[in-house]
Amino acid sequence: MSGFLVVPPVFKTGVRRHPSQAGSIPVHLRHDRPGMGRSPTDQEANPVSEQDPRRAIPRADALLADPEISAYAEPLGGEHVRGIVASATAQARAGSLAPQSVRGRVLEELAALSRSATSLTPVLNATGVVIHTNLGRAPLTAAAREALLAASGYVDVEFGLESGVRERRGRGTVDALLAAVPAAQDALVVTNGAAALSLAVTALAQGRDMLVSRGELVEIGDGFRLPDLIESTGVTIREVGTTNRTHLADYAGALDERAAAILKVHPSNFRVSGFTAQATVGECAALGREHGIPVIVDIGSGLLAPDDLLTDEPDAQSTLAAGADLVICSGDKLLGGPQAGLIFGRADLVHRLRRYPLARAFRAGKLTLAALEATLRGPRSRVSAYLHRAPDELRGRVEGVRSAVLAARPDLEDVLAVVPVEGAVGGGGAPGMPLPGWALVLPEHLAGPLRRGSPAIVARVEGGRTLLDLRCIEDAEDPAVASAVLAALGRD
Ligand SMILES: *Cc1c(COP(=O)(O)O)cnc(C)c1O
Repeated sequence: MSGFLVVPPVFKTGVRRHPSQAGSIPVHLRHDRPGMGRSPTDQEANPVSEQDPRRAIPRADALLADPEISAYAEPLGGEHVRGIVASATAQARAGSLAPQSVRGRVLEELAALSRSATSLTPVLNATGVVIHTNLGRAPLTAAAREALLAASGYVDVEFGLESGVRERRGRGTVDALLAAVPAAQDALVVTNGAAALSLAVTALAQGRDMLVSRGELVEIGDGFRLPDLIESTGVTIREVGTTNRTHLADYAGALDERAAAILKVHPSNFRVSGFTAQATVGECAALGREHGIPVIVDIGSGLLAPDDLLTDEPDAQSTLAAGADLVICSGDKLLGGPQAGLIFGRADLVHRLRRYPLARAFRAGKLTLAALEATLRGPRSRVSAYLHRAPDELRGRVEGVRSAVLAARPDLEDVLAVVPVEGAVGGGGAPGMPLPGWALVLPEHLAGPLRRGSPAIVARVEGGRTLLDLRCIEDAEDPAVASAVLAALGRD
């Protein structure tokens, strides 16, 4: 079993469970989950009499539906969890494990597996902020996680099994990128968006000048400023226009023999409104073509094609179609993939970047290439699913969690409210884009106990209240959310 995916204990603090409960299935699951009855196949496979102690062995599907066990499916992968459950029930059937110890054994093995690998703790993101940089940005799809596992051993990342010789690294991933962005002649994957930008500006403008609008000299977070990053590569920034208005004439007036490229940057995390104007990509591209200098566009967020919800957000396909020579973006923002930097565009320029010495320092690993390809070829990303959640669905789920908590704590009827809230896309894109949803209101001081609980829940604290927004949490986790809230209330 490969360990790299394994993350630390979901139930780090130890689950407070009375020994007599070991092996039992939480009561609320008995009635409301399908598939809890004995299936004929199981009976045929394991003929047991009424008196047979094996009748007391918990069923595999019931164990897998147990919220504490299913919480491990997220960090460890469902296959691992199913394997551990199958092995524990098999041991019980063989008589080497007491039926009432099966559940405890499964939890022990899951916790041990988690603990051994990394100090990163999986969290449920109840903030309503979809691309949360502090929480690792985009959560990967199941397909991408499986791809990580598949790529974890020796793989033909830079080798042809047909030819028997070295081949271009990550060909399949580049093919998937080109299929998603047909306007691109070629594509290159590097470690992250900042690396993609550094590589592009260095390879195309080192020792010379690059024109950038004053309205696009942005800070991307944690004090990192694009102008500083660019100047550190030996490229001189020539600022054009003003903070709120930059016209094509400003670029045209600044073009001289020192100018090597025009850079346009999408302001991913803020908006300038009011008396504003920016020369378009199309206008800059026409100017660039006239003077033989390339136009690089950093779109930041990583939408590859237009999204009906994010109408103000640029995408790689449209930006190239508008005339950009190179488009740069992140892999783990709106694209919903692993941390990566993507470069799309003209074949000659992408080739230059690929051969530039710095490209070797920013080379994407096989795990990144695998997860990125699976994100592109697989089903819809989780980022996209979370952005498009229907408010009514969120309301129903929040009310479900509230009812589950009230079933155990009817005294909280007046404390737990369900209120409308606005989620957010996050620093990764579309600032100011409202995402209407619903949240469960808890007392403010529960935020700490929730963070330190199992599973750890990071909620939003606002206006003296703790708000649980389920937008970025899978439906299957709702029972785990309710249990974690009850546990936090219990430690209160
Ligand atoms: C996020 C962002 C970057 C940096 O990308 P990383 O993948 O975080 O390195 C660069 N430019 C813009 C416009 C961004 O939004």
